[in-house]
Amino acid sequence: MHIKDWVQTRIRQDEIDRYKEESEKDFIDDELIESCLDGMREPDVAYVRQIIAKSLRIETLSLRETAALLYVKDPVLIAEMEEAAIRIKKFVYDNRIVTFAPLYLSSKCVNSCRYCSFRAENGEMERRIVPRDELKKEVQTLAGEIGHKRLIVVYGEHPDSDIGYIVDTVKEIYGSHFTTRKGSGQIRRVNINAAPMSIGDLKRLKEVGIGTYQVFQETYHKKTYRQVHPQNTLKGNYDWRLYTMHRAFDAGIDDVGIGALFGLYDWRFEVMGLISHTHELERRFGVGPHTISFPRLEPASNAPLATESKYLVNDEDFKHAVLTLRLAVPYTGMILTAREDAPLRRRILPLGITQTDASTKIGLGAYSRDSQEQDFKRQQFVIGDSRSLDEVVRDMAEMGFITSFCTAGYRCGRTGNKIMDMLKCGTEGKFCKLNAIITYREWLDDFASEETRRTAEPLIQKEIREVREQNPDMFDMLMAYYEKTAQGSRDLYF
Ligand code: SAM
Ligand code: SF4
Repeated sequence: MHIKDWVQTRIRQDEIDRYKEESEKDFIDDELIESCLDGMREPDVAYVRQIIAKSLRIETLSLRETAALLYVKDPVLIAEMEEAAIRIKKFVYDNRIVTFAPLYLSSKCVNSCRYCSFRAENGEMERRIVPRDELKKEVQTLAGEIGHKRLIVVYGEHPDSDIGYIVDTVKEIYGSHFTTRKGSGQIRRVNINAAPMSIGDLKRLKEVGIGTYQVFQETYHKKTYRQVHPQNTLKGNYDWRLYTMHRAFDAGIDDVGIGALFGLYDWRFEVMGLISHTHELERRFGVGPHTISFPRLEPASNAPLATESKYLVNDEDFKHAVLTLRLAVPYTGMILTAREDAPLRRRILPLGITQTDASTKIGLGAYSRDSQEQDFKRQQFVIGDSRSLDEVVRDMAEMGFITSFCTAGYRCGRTGNKIMDMLKCGTEGKFCKLNAIITYREWLDDFASEETRRTAEPLIQKEIREVREQNPDMFDMLMAYYEKTAQGSRDLYF
């Protein structure tokens, strides 16, 4: 099919309209957001403390409450917000950080987002779709040599990487197994970051067993959205993107990841947009986003907006945005990516981050090429932290975080509502601690360097002691799985 004809078939207006209520308006109320922000420029100290107490009860904040946190400037209150963020993370997720790698499979794209080097007008980009034999090599490196268990697979929007290609690649990834030092390696959770789809296509993603379906709105501000996404492109349709997650729920996918690309418009507005999106999903489907992402604009070839936007977010404001999001949606997973450099990641991780990537390469075919250099002609933007998974695991262990390679949740049906309820009452954190210990053991034995293993051993022993004290009913079972894993059994989980 000709590209133009294919583009014509993508957007189903009825799969937007069915979600709009009464008026034609969508659920991002610009006026309400602006008025909440305007009214909260000098938040009252007692009010801020009430809000922090609400977050600590693991309740989602209102727009007004979120606006108040966004304007807190008093260092004493900021310190109280930080302390609350740490406590919330500990209560809901314990001291686990889940790790994953991005895998880019296509650089062809019909869109022209002004901040992205994959945009159609960029003649300097090498355009291709990763073929099957090369995909096999990429997965071999990721799962067989580095030791990843989770991927976020990323696709441009193009007929050559349409739903058929996505389904085939997910099957290929799940079907690959590798022998390791002591056991075996395999990708056990494939998350997807791909363009908005119809309910029919999303059902195919559900059938093939994806984990999270992730789509970022980029900017919730409509005027800016129109400016940065040319209106004659598929991505120019704000509503088609905004209601993607509604369609995902209707297709049976209840782990959805939302996000905004920070730097396109005012960062406070984007946080408010993410919270509005969260409220809408909670109200409609009884379950909020599985994860929230907050990528910042990074330099990209032939995309001057990425460096020249007047809304680029500095480190302090970025930290404030992350902190506010942690408090505003206390149960959600929060993803900090390798777009950020190592020192900033160290500063922000403790403030409630639950997932981060490592050994990140975003060039097509870059994992198996084994080149450390970033290549402007082959990748979407420039990353800030290219440390290996081994280094990141060690660094996190030194900070007291156990890296979890657990992928049990969705395989045991703990998705959507089921997992949210457990997270809110703190039981998922305790439960997942067991899987974190088992998968940490597995990874340390299969992939870690001697140095990382030495750093991690005291931490794993401390975790085991905590289970004995805090969750004695599960202790014997944990130790049985732990011993089996240490002897070479793989993929045991609770
Ligand atoms: N093409 C699909 C889409 O746009 O939804 C999915 C993949 S796109 C390659 C993944 C994400 O990368 C985008 O949603 C955007 O937020 C982010 N991105 C694009 N350009 C970027 C840049 N210059 N710096 C940081 N992130 C960027
Ligand atoms: Fe294409 Fe996505 Fe890049 Fe936009 S952000 S040009 S849709 S790959």
